[in-house]
Amino acid sequence: MTGILLSLILQAWTPCSGRASCLRYSEPDELETRGPSGIPVLMYHHVSDPVDGYYGVSTSRFRRDLEELDQAGFFLIVPEDIENGLMRVPPDRRPVLLTFDDGWQDNMSFTGIGDSFQLDPSCALAILDGYSSEHPEFGHGAVFFISWDKIPFGQEEFVTEKMNLLLDMGYVIGNHTDKHTDLTRLSMSLWRDAVIKPLQRFNRRLGLRTSQVRTLAYPGGRLPRDSGAEELLSRLDYMGRKAVAMGFLANGSISSFGPLLSSQEGWFRIGRLDMSRYSVSQVLQWSNIMVPEAREDLHDPLSMRIPCQDPFPSR
Ligand SMILES: [Zn+2]
Repeated sequence: MTGILLSLILQAWTPCSGRASCLRYSEPDELETRGPSGIPVLMYHHVSDPVDGYYGVSTSRFRRDLEELDQAGFFLIVPEDIENGLMRVPPDRRPVLLTFDDGWQDNMSFTGIGDSFQLDPSCALAILDGYSSEHPEFGHGAVFFISWDKIPFGQEEFVTEKMNLLLDMGYVIGNHTDKHTDLTRLSMSLWRDAVIKPLQRFNRRLGLRTSQVRTLAYPGGRLPRDSGAEELLSRLDYMGRKAVAMGFLANGSISSFGPLLSSQEGWFRIGRLDMSRYSVSQVLQWSNIMVPEAREDLHDPLSMRIPCQDPFPSR
């Protein structure tokens, strides 16, 4: 059974010209040589004028990134698309996942007071949503990772409205821990609190919709190696479900998803590119980036979901 599931994963993530050759298990080295398999996951922090801090980009730069990604044939996905074998991505488009870390107010800001408020047109969400509306071929979606060491998106009076509006608009909220402590510097005995406490706080704002908070971005972008970290994270649960379905690094790389998803650890080590350090043209030069011509097999129907929910089955 495991072999069948693995084959399905590899079918979904390993572009190849002949379907028959996909229907067998392949070693990671072989997968690497077949062709592009990586999905770029781009990481933003502040999006503002003037540029805020070391990790910030300007609003004009952000708009330009969206235009360049669209013109290069990318299509915005959300994490669920990765689990579903990218079935939503048009055949002539290639997937890209946008992520925003920390929950800064310039990511999602309201203007107005009381019941009379609206999305600030200069915030990252408004820019992104406006571009997507005008360019439906570009798709729609992004993940906003929130850490609870600050008021999410600023503006305490609007926190609940903002979080629910974000979900209403089809975007994804991710977990970025409670105190934004680098997990490589935090005793593993404290990881449960770091991951679960935020979910309890999300629950007070989102209620049952907290079940949609399933992804984790590691503060500082790192996860210790050879420490059992992935298994620990996979076993955390909250209200009867897995607390973390996938985890995102900030390691300056595009993960090759064939080999990545065929390993138990892969779901917890998805690479990201800090876009205050990289340009879209640099992203396009990545050797393992997925290209439209190479991925027609991704649209073959999958008979079952990719089993990321329990990558560490009980022994
Ligand atoms: Zn952060």
